Amino acid sequence: MLKIDSHTHLIPETLPQWTQKFGYGNFIHLDHYRAGYARMMQGDKFFREIKSNCWDAEERIKEYRDFETQVQVVCTIPVLFGYHAQPLHGLEISEYLNDHIAGLMTKYPKNYIGLATVPMQDAELAIRELERCKKLGFKGIQIGSNINDKNLSEDEFFPIFQACERLDMAIMVHPWNMMGKGLMDKYWLPWLVAMPAETTRAACSMIFSGVLEKLPKLRVLFSHAGGAFIFTLGRIEHGFHCRPDLVAIDNNVPPSNYLGKFWVDSITHDADALRYIITKVGTEKICLGSDYPFPLGDLEIGRFITEMGLEEKDVENIFQNSIVDWLKLDLNSYK
Ligand SMILES: [Zn+2]
Repeated sequence: MLKIDSHTHLIPETLPQWTQKFGYGNFIHLDHYRAGYARMMQGDKFFREIKSNCWDAEERIKEYRDFETQVQVVCTIPVLFGYHAQPLHGLEISEYLNDHIAGLMTKYPKNYIGLATVPMQDAELAIRELERCKKLGFKGIQIGSNINDKNLSEDEFFPIFQACERLDMAIMVHPWNMMGKGLMDKYWLPWLVAMPAETTRAACSMIFSGVLEKLPKLRVLFSHAGGAFIFTLGRIEHGFHCRPDLVAIDNNVPPSNYLGKFWVDSITHDADALRYIITKVGTEKICLGSDYPFPLGDLEIGRFITEMGLEEKDVENIFQNSIVDWLKLDLNSYK
């Protein structure tokens, strides 16, 4: 069995000064202020400190060896999406980040699988970049839970989802640009409270608008175990049935019908929570995920799963088979 981590973040060691280049916006740049560490700066504002394992491909492979994990699915850090940029600038940012990951996949084909980023603010450019990334060997894309505050149910995103299905590119939905952020800055609440809500918002938007119904071959993973979606599905389902005039206006299929049709990762930090998710979607739809290398991640890369007393087949599903299905991988190319 291989162990494949479906959810990790990585960025290039250096980023262009996009704010200066484009003449607007607070794009992220890196301040390498001491060896092995960098400050992610959003304009003049400190965003987050990162360590070299955020950009050093070989250091990451070594760290993963301690957890017997051979393969990492990598994508950018959501704050770098660049959805707020003018479309052509957004494309330029996507190309830069995608070219970097493409380079890694070429250099370490057994260790890295890429999820690209595309300029979701412009469907035509997004599809152009999607097509290019398909040729570069990417298995899918990572997208935000909202696009500049617009929900994924908006018609303008549908052609991008359609293109993903046509090109056989999977989608990981990642929370970002958290709702209510300015109202709950204290206690890290955007990350602890709004992120699971963001993923729920995205899942409901894609289900109620009929994206998953119209595109049955689209392979979508909702990160952080689906956020709060699966845990609150009882309420969501009840709402669908008691107020169809509000909920079932674009798709008359109950939301529970989609359990087992999308994937989630295992990032729950809680064995009981994961057990509950297993009862709802089965281990065939749960992908090992870590959110490495960030502190809110499962930085022991699924060790708690091996201690849950699951059947061997279930562990194999979570560590390997579900990810193979989600990304349509050829296992032999990673052995
Ligand atoms: Zn993440």
